[in-house]
Amino acid sequence: NSTIVVVGGGLAGAKAVEALRDKGFRGQLTLLAGEDLLPYERPPLSKDYLQKGEGLDDATVHAREWYSDNDVDLRLGVRATELDLADRVVTTSAGEELSYDALLLATGAQPRHLDLPGADLDGVLSLRTVSDSDDLREAFRADRDIVIVGGGWIGLETAAAASNAGAKVTVLESLELPLLKVLGPKLAQVFADLHREHGVDLRTGVQVEGFEGTGDVTGVRLAGGEVIPADAVVVGVGAAPDVSLAQGAGLEVDDGIVTDAEGRTSDPNVFAVGDVARFTHPDYPEPIRVEHWANALDHPAAVAAAMLGQDATWDELPYFYTDQYDLGMEYVGLADPDDEVLIRGDLGKREFIAFWLQDGKVVAGMNVNVWDVVDDVKALICSGKQVDRARLADPDVPLDAL
Ligand code: FAD
Repeated sequence: NSTIVVVGGGLAGAKAVEALRDKGFRGQLTLLAGEDLLPYERPPLSKDYLQKGEGLDDATVHAREWYSDNDVDLRLGVRATELDLADRVVTTSAGEELSYDALLLATGAQPRHLDLPGADLDGVLSLRTVSDSDDLREAFRADRDIVIVGGGWIGLETAAAASNAGAKVTVLESLELPLLKVLGPKLAQVFADLHREHGVDLRTGVQVEGFEGTGDVTGVRLAGGEVIPADAVVVGVGAAPDVSLAQGAGLEVDDGIVTDAEGRTSDPNVFAVGDVARFTHPDYPEPIRVEHWANALDHPAAVAAAMLGQDATWDELPYFYTDQYDLGMEYVGLADPDDEVLIRGDLGKREFIAFWLQDGKVVAGMNVNVWDVVDDVKALICSGKQVDRARLADPDVPLDAL
């Protein structure tokens, strides 16, 4: 009659307890969830929920009854504060000591903060939780000056939401283009154009030096002295894996908790999954950390299987999506921004599939306002074959005929 403790009540933690029960685990199962809300999915927090303030029920992973029906001891608002690997005990913020036979760390990630003067002023915001999203919605009002620091996915989705709310939006990006390190110059330009066409003042190659104001933020100061007026600021400069518990326990950590292909950490009784894990993937030479919804949704089932000693193959390619204004996109695979890029479709109309190639083989694909192609793109990547560039770029050649 063994005991499993899952730490972290995000999507990955909730899917893990589901998978453990589905796969036949009948022992004691506890989910320590640091937030007060039932585990929920985060993508709507920068999209529909941010803009409309509704739809949170749809984002809830399981209804409250699901946990009692499945005999999962869900502890909302309770954090794991210490982990003793030798005695297999986890201490909680409620002062309990829980013994485990196997433990899963699904502690996710936290927004990176800027260590700059004024960063703790009121109105300097970041986005990870439902209450953060509520704060942003409150700030995004018509004619308000909203400054977004960082032109990554969260920064750009947030800019779209603020712009849709009628705010005057400035995005500050230190590189020459937003998303440059993810997409490379050609595709990053598509997103830059999209935001500028929607009235966003996108300023690239700028360095933020601090935030102005007393009590409330009133502006963002750039290197060189210029101050951009701000009624609110959103700092969207990426997220850092929440490795504090793992690190304190002495588990191997390297920008994420390092695991093998089955999700096992440097301690054989402890596993990790979701945004916090850096795992071995059969298709990539180095372990990868995937900070995306689909990975938190599906990977826990494989790791749960490994925890139960069952077959635990996991070779899904990283997958990501975004919605900004009328642009919807999906990205699958993993590319280097310097890789060769081929376009099938119309870049100007923002209806295309972009392919990234290494040594003539497709390593990633991004479909923009073109749908139902992800499985074909995945198959192309997995085939590992040399592609004919002209045929790849030709929309009349079916993807499955390449
Ligand atoms: P998290 O969601 O971070 O959950 C971890 C949970 O563990 C948190 O609730 C935390 O409080 C809790 N926790 C941490 N430490 C402890 C502890 N010691 N004890 C107890 N509990 C603890 N991905 C996409 O693919 N597409 C998108 O469009 C997209 N949009 C996003 C929009 C936003 C605003 C955000 C923030 C993320 C978005 N993502 C998107 C990423 C996606 O949401 C994450 O990949 C996913 O949330 C990861 O789930 P997780 O369970 O691993 O971690």
